[in-house]
Amino acid sequence: MHAYVKRVVQHGECTIDATTGNGHDTLFLANCVGPSGQVLGVDIQHAAIAATRARLLAHGVGSRVVLYPGDHGHLLPQWLSRSCPCPGSVAAILFNLGYLPGSDKQVVTHAKTTLPALEAACRLLRPGGVLSVTVYRGHRGGAEEYDEVVAFFGSLSSKQFEMTAYKGPTPAPTSPVAYIFRRRV
Ligand code: SAH
Repeated sequence: MHAYVKRVVQHGECTIDATTGNGHDTLFLANCVGPSGQVLGVDIQHAAIAATRARLLAHGVGSRVVLYPGDHGHLLPQWLSRSCPCPGSVAAILFNLGYLPGSDKQVVTHAKTTLPALEAACRLLRPGGVLSVTVYRGHRGGAEEYDEVVAFFGSLSSKQFEMTAYKGPTPAPTSPVAYIFRRRV
């Protein structure tokens, strides 16, 4: 996924990490966009925002990232309705669903908020841009979220999005699945 995203994102572009977690993907995006680019990072847990901020500062890229403590199911549709960032302008949007690694697993993503966030993400993406969604199925509620997310993906027009799914060499019913969507022009 990282290699794919890196090929697409140009220096100076805007990207979104919709679930910053411990900040690994946020740091990756900050490196992709370079000093003139921007990453918008969202997480509903303050512990995740704090872990992400610490990682970015340790790597000297904190000024490229704006962190939003909050619900991506609320924030992404709000950004879309305010045209900030502009619809059709974002180079890459990453979702890493499930729970914060190392946490007590009490806070997990849910379809009720994941779906509005994904809908907004599809409209924020620029032509040629990438939406990457890694879905975890092993935790409580994970399989239900997976089913709803997959149904949403099925509703996307193949004229507008090219989809690839990575299930790993020996997929189990509970193993994660990574989806990559490339918005066609
Ligand atoms: N399971 C993955 C990591 C997922 S991290 C792995 O093993 O690598 C998922 C992150 O999503 C967590 O940090 C959690 O706090 C965050 N999250 C959960 N619901 C959210 C929401 N509605 N809006 C934004 N972030 C959310």
